Amino acid sequence: MAARAVIIGGGVVGCVTAIKLKESGYDVTVVDKSFVGEESSAAGAGIIFPLMPWNYESKVYQLCSGALGFYKNLSEKLINGGYGDPEFIESGMICIEPPDKKEIVQWAKKNNFKINKCFFNSRPSIEFANVAQLNPKKLMISLKHYIEGLGIKLIENCNLKKIQKKSNYLNGWPTDNNDLIEGDIFIITAGAWSSHIINNDKDEIYPVRGQLIKFKKPSIILDKILYSKNFYLLQRKCGSIVAGSTIENVGFDNTTTFQAAKELKEKTINLIPELKEFEPYEQWAGLRPGVKNNIPLIKRDNIHKNIYINSGHYRYGITMAPKSADEILKLIKV
Ligand SMILES: Cc1cc2nc3c(=O)[nH]c(=O)nc-3n(C[C@H](O)[C@H](O)[C@H](O)COP(=O)(O)OP(=O)(O)OC[C@H]3O[C@@H](n4cnc5c(N)ncnc54)[C@H](O)[C@@H]3O)c2cc1C
Repeated sequence: MAARAVIIGGGVVGCVTAIKLKESGYDVTVVDKSFVGEESSAAGAGIIFPLMPWNYESKVYQLCSGALGFYKNLSEKLINGGYGDPEFIESGMICIEPPDKKEIVQWAKKNNFKINKCFFNSRPSIEFANVAQLNPKKLMISLKHYIEGLGIKLIENCNLKKIQKKSNYLNGWPTDNNDLIEGDIFIITAGAWSSHIINNDKDEIYPVRGQLIKFKKPSIILDKILYSKNFYLLQRKCGSIVAGSTIENVGFDNTTTFQAAKELKEKTINLIPELKEFEPYEQWAGLRPGVKNNIPLIKRDNIHKNIYINSGHYRYGITMAPKSADEILKLIKV
């Protein structure tokens, strides 16, 4: 009989981990406190690149490597299988007037990453060719159906509680209704809530709110992602333009604010003055699973030998999900 793996949290990290475990022969169940793919993973911008890898420790880019190929391949499977189009586009990205040009050039050389000098509206810029984007909301809807199609069991509306018993081996994880979800291994992929369900990682993962706004189909074509000073603009397949995002430490509050919409619009106009006449028609927020140094926790629990943690992907969880799942798989096989 195949070993039973229980994935706690059905965001992008949980779903991609579930796929990789299923492909390795596990009997996989994904449990979510609400619905699969409706939290941070659906709220993201969908840029497949860690916006400024030259500013981070090399581990961050290492966890992002291979993501473009993974999503290109997954996107084909989702479309061909009739699960939906996650709108994957190899658009590239333009970094406008970067203040850290020297660091970018050094980073690109070291990592063999193709960059080109260019101009955006007469502003000196750098083009990053191998950057892709997708629509996270659409990705999560199609991913949910895809994993069900692979024979992965989904249990929704099931909140798993913090475990109290400190034994070496856990046979079942308690739910709010005092049921037990049985399994041979448990993988915590509960995003910003991960530190709520395990005692010994208290406060290592915390929520960081991000807000985005969207402009309805202006007559502007943005064939590349635009990035400038921690702000980005990108265009969805339908023509809408997405602008983001804020970085706010406000706890588990994912409401949107007037102030954020105002600031994001001002930054938008700075890059595309024509958008001055447009008002954003949609605004939303998500809670990123924050960690102190941008490096997620991918490890076996210190006490329980059959609990693993794959969480804390902060700003780049969509991009890091495939490599993080590979790392968890390696740990399980040790
Ligand atoms: C505004 C914004 C823009 C972003 N842009 C990008 C981007 O362009 N590129 C990129 O790579 N990343 C981006 N990110 C980051 C990325 O979205 C996150 O890192 C990623 O979604 C984290 O995925 P996750 O699966 O860990 O968490 P989540 O998607 O939050 O999923 C966690 C799941 O666990 C469930 N859960 C929690 N507690 C329990 C429990 N006790 N029992 C059962 N289930 C539980 C939740 O219901 C939820 O479904 C962005 C994020 C935001 C907010």
